[in-house]
Amino acid sequence: MNNIEQTLSIIKPDAVERNLADDIKDIFKKNNLNIIDAKKIHITKDEASEFYKVHQSKPFFNDLCTYLSSGPIVVMILEGKDAIKNYRKIMGATDPKKADENTIRRLFGISIDKNSVHGSDSTENAKKEIDFFFKN
Ligand code: UDP
Ligand code: MG
Repeated sequence: MNNIEQTLSIIKPDAVERNLADDIKDIFKKNNLNIIDAKKIHITKDEASEFYKVHQSKPFFNDLCTYLSSGPIVVMILEGKDAIKNYRKIMGATDPKKADENTIRRLFGISIDKNSVHGSDSTENAKKEIDFFFKN
């Protein structure tokens, strides 16, 4: 079965600031994740809070929203076979120290909060997150 899906990627402020966007995009292309749409934006803390609202009860929520709104980010729609699972795999575990070798977070992440990239975790969330940034 050819399960073509779309997922949302965010290159977070720590990676944009270190000019890693092109290196990360190369990894997407090598792994058959096609970039369907992309834009560089700088969101407000309120927008970050809306995006991450599933985490609103977590102790790290406030710092997470401050961080995501601290500088420019690149948001992208990625498309490919099993894109959601494929992208989560090449992204690596949330904590770069625990991520497998050659994953994006292992290669570029600084810490659990400055972990360079976001990726949707389910079909339902991928749809919601794509709509959040790309539906006007
Ligand atoms: N995060 C954090 N501290 C934690 C757990 C998560 O700062 O203890 C941040 C981290 O940047 C992570 C984001 O919150 O990427 C969302 O957390 P989630 O559990 O959804 O991880 P992800 O899906 O990004 O791997
Ligand atoms: Mg998540």
